[in-house]
Amino acid sequence: MEIRELQSSMARLYVERDRARGRDATFRWLTEEVGELAKAMRTGDRANLEHEFGDVLAWLASLANLEGIDLETAVARYAATCPRCSDAPCDCPFP
Ligand SMILES: [Zn+2]
Repeated sequence: MEIRELQSSMARLYVERDRARGRDATFRWLTEEVGELAKAMRTGDRANLEHEFGDVLAWLASLANLEGIDLETAVARYAATCPRCSDAPCDCPFP
């Protein structure tokens, strides 16, 4: 599945609910899912880890739909090289 496909699917499945919930509440859901991903990383349960990655990406797509942001366009700057140093792999100094 392409990123744009995922975002379209999320819109088809959930955009009315997402609009009713609103962007602030949707953002809170996203952050809760990021927290669940953090917990999954500690457990070593690969199936749960995969599940939580999926939830984070899905909620990010829902939020992008509410904000009118096309994720595929938004992430395009990472498609070939590092957007900061223009190298692949990145050669930016560690902070
Ligand atoms: Zn870089």
